[in-house]
Amino acid sequence: MTFKTRFAPSPTGPLHLGHAYSAMLAHDLAKVESGQFLLRIEDIDRSRSRSHWEDQIYEDLRWLGLFWPEPVMRQSDRLAAYGTALDNLWSRGLLYPCTCNRKDIAAAASAPQEGTPLHGPDGIIYPGRCRAKWLPSLAQDPRPKDVPLRLDVAAAGQLLLTCGQSDTVVGSFQEDGAGPNGEAGAITFTLDELTKTIGDVVLSRRDMGTSYHLSVVLDDAAQGITHVIRGQDLFEATRIHVVLQALLGLQTPHYLHHRLIRDDAGKRLAKRDDARAISKYRAEGASPADIRSMVGL
Ligand code: GLU
Repeated sequence: MTFKTRFAPSPTGPLHLGHAYSAMLAHDLAKVESGQFLLRIEDIDRSRSRSHWEDQIYEDLRWLGLFWPEPVMRQSDRLAAYGTALDNLWSRGLLYPCTCNRKDIAAAASAPQEGTPLHGPDGIIYPGRCRAKWLPSLAQDPRPKDVPLRLDVAAAGQLLLTCGQSDTVVGSFQEDGAGPNGEAGAITFTLDELTKTIGDVVLSRRDMGTSYHLSVVLDDAAQGITHVIRGQDLFEATRIHVVLQALLGLQTPHYLHHRLIRDDAGKRLAKRDDARAISKYRAEGASPADIRSMVGL
């Protein structure tokens, strides 16, 4: 198996030191393993993606000394593939439409019978308001395109339990790095953990016709990625990615979640952290070697 990894930035702002670390680490490991490093542009969020940020990504990465095969995969070219996967999940009764806005979700999650609202990778875990109203027989109808669709995670988990070897474990993956609490090695998770830590995530957003979770899973599979290298902030989301791979008959790659680069106050760098933008260090005369040492590589 040839080692294949990728860096998958969204062109919604400048790349900062955290991105540089992630991209250089993946590029270094691909070299050590005599493997391949791919680049993918995650531009499904059309309202925030800009072509000048995409150009800046190419420029910054080249300046850092990274190279990758062309053509580069861009998510905006893959909407048909996302639609096919959604049709598949929809026809199996695993998705339902959701009309809740943020306020509805916050109100439903803080109802007294719900206890303290739980948080997952996408914010408050969806309390299931629209799932309760949904009639599974409606999955015979064509998939609605004008409304967000959520994964019925309990139904998905039950299905995986029926097909799997265990009565409780719905999924597993190999962690070659570490999660935020030191999780490493063979990670398994149960249906109960899935419903309590992830919940019914949105797989098709109204404005995108897909979501980060669905696209990333389909693209990693389409690119034949064997090792996903990315920040620890995405460790929790990996469970939902593993579930989607199982539902869609895709291989689960290895995952390597790496430490996050933080600012002096210990906060994770964000896109709006222009002060840490690679282009800014570059304009001030820093070299790629300086960037490497700044991020501890
Ligand atoms: N596009 C995502 C980001 O910029 C990366 C997701 C991933 O590596 O899985 O955070």
